[in-house]
Amino acid sequence: MEAYKAVIIPFKPPVELLRDFRDMVNYCIQAGLRHGATSKFKLTRLVYRELTAKYPWHSWYALSAIEVACAILKNYRKSLRRGLSPRVPRARRLIAKIGNQALKVEEGRVRVPLRPRKWLYIPLHRRASEFVEAGCRLRSATLTPNAACLAFSKQVDGIEPRSWAAVDVNEDNVTLATSNGEVEVYELSRLKRAGYGYFARRKAIQRRYHGDRRVLKKALSKLSKNYRSLVSSELHKASAAIIKLCKERGYGLIVEDLRGLRGSVNAKVKRLNPYSGKIQPTSTRSKELKRRLNNWWFRRLLNQLEYKAKWEGMSIEAVDPKGSSSTCPMCRSKLKLYLNGRVECSSCGYHGDRHVTACLNLLKASDVTPRFGVERPLDVAVNPALTTLMGVRASWASIRGEVNWEANRTTGRCANYT
Ligand SMILES: [Zn+2]
Repeated sequence: MEAYKAVIIPFKPPVELLRDFRDMVNYCIQAGLRHGATSKFKLTRLVYRELTAKYPWHSWYALSAIEVACAILKNYRKSLRRGLSPRVPRARRLIAKIGNQALKVEEGRVRVPLRPRKWLYIPLHRRASEFVEAGCRLRSATLTPNAACLAFSKQVDGIEPRSWAAVDVNEDNVTLATSNGEVEVYELSRLKRAGYGYFARRKAIQRRYHGDRRVLKKALSKLSKNYRSLVSSELHKASAAIIKLCKERGYGLIVEDLRGLRGSVNAKVKRLNPYSGKIQPTSTRSKELKRRLNNWWFRRLLNQLEYKAKWEGMSIEAVDPKGSSSTCPMCRSKLKLYLNGRVECSSCGYHGDRHVTACLNLLKASDVTPRFGVERPLDVAVNPALTTLMGVRASWASIRGEVNWEANRTTGRCANYT
């Protein structure tokens, strides 16, 4: 099995290359649409000569541009088939990609061709050098205005799991329960609070600079950069801790298959709009819920778990999470949910934590029978929902600096992050 991982190296490539690459991709897209070319081979025959004649860069860039354009066209056709009405595609971002045949690693740096007999050198940092020394293959380099992203691959042997661990992803924590009865809770309520704070600050900035789009864009981009880096670092810590635990004890991972969640959150039905008197597509969910769920980082965490598990050769399976936190894992009847996050079964008397119960139901999808009676550890904090009136007030107060969250925080059993 081939596993992939990428590293990002701060680097400034020539901007002309990125601009020309974007033009090349757009040229390929136009040609592909005009001639109805669907395969890479056909597109190459159509545009390769013109691209290499028109642009001074190494011919590998032309091939990469064709590849990128093919991927964009494929997505476009997929949307068409689904009956959506996508806009005619256009490459917007400044990137340049180049495949492994043209790349060479020498003396702690990667040599990237620019023009024939003219090269660019990307110095490798410690982490990238580790990949090279470990014998991983360099697969491609993607250049952006401020960074170079190097993709590595290695051959891994799949490890047969001794038993399974199920991961339940929630808005403020990640719960893991294993078939041996261990429960770990990774507190991520900091991210939930940060998400609310981010929303409030965004709103304030939008209000303040609504007259000047240029300043608004700048202010918002700085804010979102900070928020994104916080989310990314916290999620990496949690996923690394989960993978480490599972690897040490030989567990395979069971995760929820949350595909289609966004679609169902943003679903619209045709209803009468009482204000305009027309029948219009109307959201089935509240604005509040849509914002919360659309800002949720579940996909990012699941992706991290997936590629990290594959890199270690661990098994990872996604199962349908439908009803996992509302069904009794012992007798399959409907559970009663209490406000403190506990659930109770009225037919067999099973009771436990909601998230742990969800994990148990996920575990049932595997070939092992979980032992029951596991409890959420008592020292784990249960956070109040920030959506309640009290919660919203608290989060607003914390933005104004009136509440010291650190002092108020219940001591949760945090993951032994590494
Ligand atoms: Zn029951």
